[in-house]
Amino acid sequence: MLEIRQNCENCNKALPPNSTDALICTYECTWCTECNDNLLHNVCPNCGGNLEKRPIRPKKELDSNPATDKVVYKPIDMNKYIPMRERIKSIPPEHR
Ligand SMILES: [Zn+2]
Ligand SMILES: [Zn+2]
Repeated sequence: MLEIRQNCENCNKALPPNSTDALICTYECTWCTECNDNLLHNVCPNCGGNLEKRPIRPKKELDSNPATDKVVYKPIDMNKYIPMRERIKSIPPEHR
């Protein structure tokens, strides 16, 4: 089950369970569409995998399966990330 982290790990933008702006990698590192468009270009800074739109959990499901309160906020270290992104971004995710 997804944790549904409620903020962007890089910019801390709020990404509640009904946000249409949330993207996740296979480990559920969570990013906003703005960070992806401006910076990430479909390369997760933590694992190098691609990002997909997070499905919205319906309101009625949140009572029994609430979104996590855990906050992961670790702005990207550009000196490390940019070279990694440049190496990886042109490789299709299924070949990374
Ligand atoms: Zn962001
Ligand atoms: Zn990741």
